[in-house]
This record gives sequence, structure tokens and C-alpha cells, in this order.
Amino acid sequence: MEKIKKINYLNLTMLSLRPNCENCNKPLAPNSTEAMICSYECTFCVDCVNDVLHNVCPNCGGGFEKRPIRPKDGLRKHPSSTEPVLKPVNQVTFRPLMEKNQNILPNER
Ligand SMILES: [Zn+2]
Ligand SMILES: [Zn+2]
Repeated sequence: MEKIKKINYLNLTMLSLRPNCENCNKPLAPNSTEAMICSYECTFCVDCVNDVLHNVCPNCGGGFEKRPIRPKDGLRKHPSSTEPVLKPVNQVTFRPLMEKNQNILPNER
């Protein structure tokens, strides 16, 4: 029988749960239902993802998914990040990346 590795949750790296939207600086609490992340954890509010980014990450070109909520017990052991990342999107430099990707499903980019 194949050995199944047991996961030690204390040794895992985890989502940093950034405190704000990288584009508009809206606060995104760890339990916010408006936080969206790409696979690299670039973090934006859902309004920016839909209205500004058109589901194209300005840093990596990938799509976004809703950020999972860490339960309160988990937050006590592994608190959310307190370091804001703020890098408002430059519409001019972003446009080519957006136009290239916005009509391609994230799983086909
Ligand atoms: Zn935003
Ligand atoms: Zn990204």
C-alpha cells in the first residue's frame, strides 16, 4: 500500500491574508468576503477585479478567485498580514496584458 504522508499544519507556509486592495487600498479584513487573490496572492477587492482588472492580474496575467477565510482559531495561531501592498494599476502599461487575456478563461491562459 502506498504510504500517505501526514501533513504537519504547523510547518506549512500559508496565505498571508493581505490587509488591503493593491489597487484602491480598500481595507480587506481576514474575514472579508470581497477579497480576491491570484495564484501568487496578489490581492484585490472584488470591485477592482470586475471593473478595473476584468479578471486579469496586472502582475502575472492570471485570473482571480475568492480568498478563502481562515477560521478564528487559525488566525490566533497564524495572524493575517499587517503589511499593506499598494501598487495602483497603471492603465496604460496594463492595457496590453488585459486585452491579451480578458477574453481567455483563466484555465486556458
Ligand atoms: Zn480595490
Ligand atoms: Zn498575480
